[in-house]
Amino acid sequence: MPTITAEARAKINLWLTVGEKRPDGYHDIETVMRQVSLCDLVSVTRRPDHGEDRLIEVHCSDPGIPADRRNIVWKCAEAFFDAYGIRAYNIYIDIEKHIPQAAGLAGGSADGAAALRLLNQLFRADASLEFLCSVGAKVGADIPFCLTGGMQLCRGKGERMTPVTVSPSVARPAPIDSCAALIVKSPALSVSTGEAYRMLDEIPPSPADAELRRTGLNMLLGELRDGRIPRTLYNDFERTAPREVFPVKDRLLSLGAVSVLMSGSGPSVYGLFEGLRDAEDARDALAAEGVDCFAVRLL
Ligand code: ATP
Repeated sequence: MPTITAEARAKINLWLTVGEKRPDGYHDIETVMRQVSLCDLVSVTRRPDHGEDRLIEVHCSDPGIPADRRNIVWKCAEAFFDAYGIRAYNIYIDIEKHIPQAAGLAGGSADGAAALRLLNQLFRADASLEFLCSVGAKVGADIPFCLTGGMQLCRGKGERMTPVTVSPSVARPAPIDSCAALIVKSPALSVSTGEAYRMLDEIPPSPADAELRRTGLNMLLGELRDGRIPRTLYNDFERTAPREVFPVKDRLLSLGAVSVLMSGSGPSVYGLFEGLRDAEDARDALAAEGVDCFAVRLL
């Protein structure tokens, strides 16, 4: 029985603004996402299907995550078989979890994206990236990004992507090439993404946030195209974030982070450092204080 395994990589948001709620219930967002080296491992085994079975079994190393049809990999597998009209299947999906769940790091979406890539291989569907993204988008707004990877400016629900790259005129390696992040699992309770959107709908941005929302994205994109470690980071969800998040940001700055932000709907917070060694030194200092954190490369 063939088994194949893929890394399911987490993301951080360098920018995230939330616009109006749309008639379909989603919000329009504008976000710059970057894949990082923190990853789960997803393995898919194709078992004999006897020509008529429709069997999916999921195992997840984290017992706190449902291993049934509520799991994002399960939903992605069903969406994949549906899209391809595959009527007989018998698969086993194993998820070795390392990405904290409900933390704003797209752990579930990353697993779903990895499952789609593996199923595409195992069932020799030969789907294009674009097609897999359209299947993934039916399950979750972050899945197209997780399939595509790298650094993307995402609009719409998050599915309309434009790659962000360092300008060819910039001498390489540029500072951003060796930049690393330290991701801290904030002591705040995990945040429900739906609840975070609802809170944002009710609280208008302060004048300072409104100004940054207007001008900051172009500044950030300029920093990234120049190959600099970005300083103009912004996340609307910080406006409604649990208060435990802010001392973590201050602590990361005191440990030498160039810039800091909460990722996604939180509560994870990250700091950007000039190199992996700096991020690891900061990790060691925080780990000695009992703080859960991960030093990661930007991919
Ligand atoms: P995002 O940044 O995309 O908003 P997140 O990092 O905040 O996502 P996830 O870790 O993706 O959140 O989990 C969100 C919810 O999805 C959790 O409550 C969890 O129970 C459920 N879930 C389903 N499948 C998975 C999976 N494979 N891994 C993690 N969570 C999953």
